[in-house]
Amino acid sequence: MKKKNVKFPETLHEAIKYFADDDHALDFMKSIRWPDGVVKCPRCGSANVSFLSTRKIWKCKSAHEKQQFSVKVGTVLEDSPIDLDKWLCGFWLIANAKNGISSYELHRSIGVTQKTAWFMLHRIRLAMQDGSTEQFSGRVEADETFIGGRARNMHADKKAHVKAGAVGKVAVMGLLERNSPERHSRVKVRVLRNVRRHGLHREIKEKVVKGSEIYTDAFLSYSGLEKEYIHNVIDHAECYAKGHVHTNGLENFWSLLKRGIKGTYVSVEPFHLFRYLDEQSFRFNERKDNDAGRFIKVVGGILGKGLRYAKLIGKTGDDGLPKKAVSWLSETWLLNHLGFETD
Ligand SMILES: [Zn+2]
Repeated sequence: MKKKNVKFPETLHEAIKYFADDDHALDFMKSIRWPDGVVKCPRCGSANVSFLSTRKIWKCKSAHEKQQFSVKVGTVLEDSPIDLDKWLCGFWLIANAKNGISSYELHRSIGVTQKTAWFMLHRIRLAMQDGSTEQFSGRVEADETFIGGRARNMHADKKAHVKAGAVGKVAVMGLLERNSPERHSRVKVRVLRNVRRHGLHREIKEKVVKGSEIYTDAFLSYSGLEKEYIHNVIDHAECYAKGHVHTNGLENFWSLLKRGIKGTYVSVEPFHLFRYLDEQSFRFNERKDNDAGRFIKVVGGILGKGLRYAKLIGKTGDDGLPKKAVSWLSETWLLNHLGFETD
């Protein structure tokens, strides 16, 4: 029987129907995984492989361990037993949910356990991480904010950490490159240990081309930027904007971010905040694209970011969920990711 002409989905409803077909899901993943169309063994790189159509996996013909591999190997989906159609629906939902989506919503929407949904969310956020090292230029706003719960709303064991200074409010630094004729505005956001001059300046120098125009408020940590940038300061004690001197672009992003956290999540643990920032920055930066375009970009982000379950959750409790924030915060890889210095 001849297959009817099928077009690539444009809505969630179409995506669910489209990817329910195993061949559609596999073909799509193949085109993301091996864009040149040549399936290669992730172990040895050989293209001399055979496809086992009944199990939808390949077998490398070179002699080595683990000759068999699936389309998931070497991506953030590696080792996951969840079927591709559920994964792809999850990608679609998260790429296009304006305020994000909680693990409870994902669990109910696609029919996996909440634990599995939690893990899927983290992997998808990893795929949303902006890997580009391209610097901002032109007119760039810089600002910082604090995100995190108040101690009085926390459990006693969490309060203890706050007092010990382990968790609590988290400092977040943002940069926003304003609209130019070539492109709409974009953000880069990052968790910092504190908002002292050293960290803020380092972040700006790393991500903004020298000589660009920088807009900040009168916060003292920003002083000194005029040595390498055209530094425009708006003193919020006086007013919020003088002509184009303002940080309103970032203020808008902060309120979007905080609304998302408040509306969607019971709480975002400080040690997971950076992934949520990745997610919101992604949606902001890709806001002009359509749903299918954002979906393809997120799925395209699965490469080279393989993350094992154990690595993600650190030490596990019996239910597979992380036991304590403290064990996470002591992980060197996490500290590095958050921009903390490690000895
Ligand atoms: Zn091989």
